[in-house]
Amino acid sequence: MSCRVRFAPSPTGFLHIGNARTALFNWLYAKSVGGTFILRIDDTDQKRSTSEAVDMAIRSLKWMGLEWDEGPGKDKGNGPYFQSERLHIYKEHIDKLLESGKAYYCFCSSEELDMKSKGQKTLSQLQIYDGKCSSVSLAEAKERIANGEKARVRFFNNENKIVSFDDVVRGVVKKESKEIGDFVIFKEDGFPTYNFATVIDEALMGITHVIRGEDHISNTAKQLLLYQAYNFDIPIFAHTSMILGSDKEKLSKRHGASTVMDFEAEGYLPEGIRNFLALLGWSHPEAVEALTDEELIKAFTLNRFSKSPAVFDMNKFNHINTWHIRNIDIDDAVSRFLPYLIKGGYIPENPDEEKLAWSKKLVMIVREHCSILSDICAHVDVFFKDDFVLTDGMQKVIETDESKKLLIYIKEQIENSDEITEAVMKSIIKNAQKETGLKGPLLYHPIRYALTGNISGTELASVAELLGKDKLVNRISRFIE
Ligand code: GLU
Repeated sequence: MSCRVRFAPSPTGFLHIGNARTALFNWLYAKSVGGTFILRIDDTDQKRSTSEAVDMAIRSLKWMGLEWDEGPGKDKGNGPYFQSERLHIYKEHIDKLLESGKAYYCFCSSEELDMKSKGQKTLSQLQIYDGKCSSVSLAEAKERIANGEKARVRFFNNENKIVSFDDVVRGVVKKESKEIGDFVIFKEDGFPTYNFATVIDEALMGITHVIRGEDHISNTAKQLLLYQAYNFDIPIFAHTSMILGSDKEKLSKRHGASTVMDFEAEGYLPEGIRNFLALLGWSHPEAVEALTDEELIKAFTLNRFSKSPAVFDMNKFNHINTWHIRNIDIDDAVSRFLPYLIKGGYIPENPDEEKLAWSKKLVMIVREHCSILSDICAHVDVFFKDDFVLTDGMQKVIETDESKKLLIYIKEQIENSDEITEAVMKSIIKNAQKETGLKGPLLYHPIRYALTGNISGTELASVAELLGKDKLVNRISRFIE
């Protein structure tokens, strides 16, 4: 049977990095075995679900490159893929359970349930439903509902048994069904609960593997009871470890950017995020860290998930992102940097050929210094600020007789060249070395200070090419008059 996995976000806010990782793991698994990756929107929580959150989840997934094979906009005969549009399906299934006596209507008020639960807590008892309404017959319940009473539906968990499953990550997980009690599967608002809708959908959508965060492990026992009640095939479960911040606390807003859109805005690349997130709770067999999609997909297996929590290491993220920035095709890199250059006001909104060619040269020389796309702004100022002021230390270096002679020579050489390319500038510097006898910092520092106003930075000859002859002459002239 071919593998079918799903990502099922609840649209209640931004797509957080933990959920994005779950989506990625499912996507990677589907890709690695030639299976189907399904997107389902778990929007049964009427109070908290919003259409904005749906849009954001879809946008974030698309931006991350996690395109689904089946789901909203791609119905392959198993839709709808929004749970709120599947109410008739849930209704049909709940009726079956009610008729067979495996579920019953519960009329207890929320106040009564709260009070009982508090009482159980005080006595250190399990906080589970006491089964009061299980004795109400279906006929009587239907009559009461017809008369306007509100009711929820509970699963009749009356068999005392051990529910167990063999989790791919955690091994055998067991739970006594009596610790679960008669849990709610349909709410008074006419919507199914998460556990109920999930099971029906996994079964009807033919889900073979459920890969999700460890925080859902406590739901799995309830879900198993439902699979069994319907005689549905049970999927394989893989509950992946939590993500912690560097302080070993659960990852949250406190740790800085935590949603996919935050990272997008900061200038991380989708391939950088995919690579970094894949290594949070999963590892490459040869411990390789910088990986392309092809390499990730080829190496991805479910048996390399780690049981221990993963730590979100920003330095590692930046390192991996830098690697991707350096390795993508140059034209692709330019198109990704462009919005940042435009936003910074360094090039116009609709750059002409000349500006584009300049931007390409810029990206070629500075991309290796950028961990994120927005870093480019820190490297581009140097090309625009002609009237920079040197620090006292720099001024001292540049004022010596040797430096003056050197700069005069460099200026002449530049003036005598038709065009300053990187190669031309390199040979000018080489000639200057022969001419003046200066070497190392004594040679390079005065030139760099005069041309850029900076102590260090990108390779001087490449910077010179990008500055162009006129700017070079003007800048040097400021220090030799
Ligand atoms: N809607 C659930 C969530 O976002 C899905 C959990 C699951 O994968 O079963 O947490």
